[in-house]
Amino acid sequence: MRSAVFHGREDIQVDEIAEPAVESDSVLIEVTAAGICGSDLHEYAAGPIFIPGDAPHPVTGETAPISMGHEFGGEIIEIGEDVDDIAVGDTVTVNPVLYCGECRYCEDGSYHLCESGGFTGLSGGGGGFSEQIAVSSEQAIPVPDDVPAEYAALVEPFSVGLHAVRNAEFSAGDSVAVYGTGPIGLTVVQAAKAAGANPVYAVEPQDARRELAAEVGADETLDPIETDAPEAIIEQSNGGVDATFEVAGIEQTVRDAIRSAKNGGSVTIVSIFEESIAIEPNEIVLGERTVSGTLAYEGGPKSDVEFGAVIDMFADGTLDPEPLITSRIDLGEIVDGFETLLGGEHDEIKILVEP
Ligand SMILES: [Zn+2]
Ligand SMILES: [Zn+2]
Repeated sequence: MRSAVFHGREDIQVDEIAEPAVESDSVLIEVTAAGICGSDLHEYAAGPIFIPGDAPHPVTGETAPISMGHEFGGEIIEIGEDVDDIAVGDTVTVNPVLYCGECRYCEDGSYHLCESGGFTGLSGGGGGFSEQIAVSSEQAIPVPDDVPAEYAALVEPFSVGLHAVRNAEFSAGDSVAVYGTGPIGLTVVQAAKAAGANPVYAVEPQDARRELAAEVGADETLDPIETDAPEAIIEQSNGGVDATFEVAGIEQTVRDAIRSAKNGGSVTIVSIFEESIAIEPNEIVLGERTVSGTLAYEGGPKSDVEFGAVIDMFADGTLDPEPLITSRIDLGEIVDGFETLLGGEHDEIKILVEP
């Protein structure tokens, strides 16, 4: 079968590889669609980062070359002999969290914080940019018939947004500001609106992304090139919003997210950074603000908690992945897709690869 395989930096090839074997507790999926994610681009341009380059990954035992793709869904085409909660023909999405099951975090049930954790499609175990993939049955979360099958590929990024919003401190009716409305920022905007945040400010320099933020529910959008966004937000919210989210991964947005949270407010950092940044600690201390980080979503035996919530909200229309899907390409075009997303000028948000 065909699979997009990471061989090294700027070296991803669509290879012919062996079809995955189905073990007693695993399921075999024919992939419908898989999304290209920012972390895939980091691996391609600057990796291997999460991908095990030299030492084998502690959970999968694999080293590059490995198949990529961790945001995907498809149809079950075979199940292991011990699997009884999923049937052939079901549409599923896959929670890619991999974990050891033995460390203190796994014992606490925080599988996504596992000391030696990883992700299917980045750490080994096959990937979604393939015709087929076998995963543990607890990773496969059913998607009902009334949700379009390709939306299964969007459950993962929306779970990142949902997890961030669940970790933040705000209630329905509270004000929120989101800095950066790329693929994940747009899921944060939607999850914050779904949690009752009002108003939601979205700060984003790219016109197309600002327009999308408004389309998916932001009450007000601000262009930080033209306006001093924190100042405008502070003025309109009587001294700062209840919660801010940083989803751009640069120094300026972290500083702005801290500055525009009210005294006692919460600042949630969702981005992964490429380098160290300077912040002003007194802005945290003197306003008694809380700054916290959030990573991925719950996994392992809790794989269906946040993924299931997102699927329910896709089904009832509370969350809408459609505006985020900007292109659909064949597996053979995947490197072009990576290059487009890494290029300067483009209006893409989520490119879906259809193996
Ligand atoms: Zn991702
Ligand atoms: Zn662990």
